[in-house]
Amino acid sequence: MLAERVKTLAPSSTLAVQAKAKALRARGVDVISFGAGEPDFDTPERIKAAAVEAMRRGQTKYTDVAGVPELRAAVCAKLKRDHGLAYEPDDVLVSCGAKHTLFNMAVAVLDPGDEVLIPSPYWVSYPEQARLVGGMPVEVPTREATGFDLDPERLAAAVTPRTKAIVLNSPNNPTGAVFSAEALGNVARLAVDAGLLVVSDECYEALTFEGRHVSIASLGPEIKARTLVINTCSKAYAMTGWRIGYAAGPRALIRAMTDVQSQVTSNASSVAQWAAVEALLGPQDEVRVMAAEFDRRRHLIVDGLNRLPGVSCIKPKGAFYAFANVAGLFGRSSASAAGTTRLDGSLDVAAFLLDEARVAVVPGVDFGSDAHVRLSYATSDALIREGLARMDAAIRKLR
Ligand code: PMP
Ligand code: GLU
Repeated sequence: MLAERVKTLAPSSTLAVQAKAKALRARGVDVISFGAGEPDFDTPERIKAAAVEAMRRGQTKYTDVAGVPELRAAVCAKLKRDHGLAYEPDDVLVSCGAKHTLFNMAVAVLDPGDEVLIPSPYWVSYPEQARLVGGMPVEVPTREATGFDLDPERLAAAVTPRTKAIVLNSPNNPTGAVFSAEALGNVARLAVDAGLLVVSDECYEALTFEGRHVSIASLGPEIKARTLVINTCSKAYAMTGWRIGYAAGPRALIRAMTDVQSQVTSNASSVAQWAAVEALLGPQDEVRVMAAEFDRRRHLIVDGLNRLPGVSCIKPKGAFYAFANVAGLFGRSSASAAGTTRLDGSLDVAAFLLDEARVAVVPGVDFGSDAHVRLSYATSDALIREGLARMDAAIRKLR
């Protein structure tokens, strides 16, 4: 009954870990979850008030497929304000979260067999979305020794006549890398020379703690003309449930993505769109307060991870993830009532931490590195401390 394409589809493991932790908690198991890739803050009041006001005004009908003109204008104002990038509302598409934006892109751009370069480690949905439309994700490794910065030489070596696009994500999920301006400049040159589309996922832009977030589209008119800039209200404004993501880019591409969306979901929620107008144009103070809080927790969790025997973690520069190297635990065994299990990869380590420490993490294999596990530190200091203590106690019992 099912299509071939779903027989090999990997469901989102980030969402799966979140669901598993929630289910265990509902059964009364006291699990500390470092799975959730979402801010633990509530959406700021001014944004909620804008949504209530929109409902009162009767903004409860279908909107333009691409989004209300006011929101597309707000996106243009944001990109001008933060990056000096000039777009018009017709260059913007608003979708049901950046995940939806990315899928519209995949449908609009990839023919079967087209290759997409994906620097690895990568966010779980890029390769799966490409595969869903018959595209071929090509993983191009980055090096832990450079803090997982982009590697323009390896990317250049991976280009073939079938390469259509390259997906960049800075600040990066899961590594926390903030790509250097130098590497971005080299990749921009590569994209222009090879005629590639650059998909620049900047969802964690507001959470840049070290280095400087550079939008590759701002490096010159040639690269801007072949870049799709993607962002979301989810992370900066703690609006994951509202489902508002957006893209700005070449008009023909935006139009094609809008046509795809017109046959699939129509517009994103009208009420959420009006909340997003307020999010983007209103005072940005809460964003800075939330970012400062994540920055503080970053040191707490990374320092704690580096104190665990067999675990090491580079300091992420942005987003709210720690990507811990757990290869030092491989080959060791855990003895429980169910028997002895040897830890041979990130899935084993994640299962061991859940069973023995009641701590949920996402196995790195789903992000392209089996030597790592990902911990989201979008959670309280107390839970970070308790989670680290539980991991420490469980690891010390390994043989
Ligand atoms: N890109 C990255 C790198 C992400 O981590 C996420 C997950 N939230 C998204 C895009 C999609 O976010 P949303 O659909 O909530 O806008
Ligand atoms: N992006 C977040 C994460 O990586 C949320 C879950 C998802 O959309 O994959 O955990």
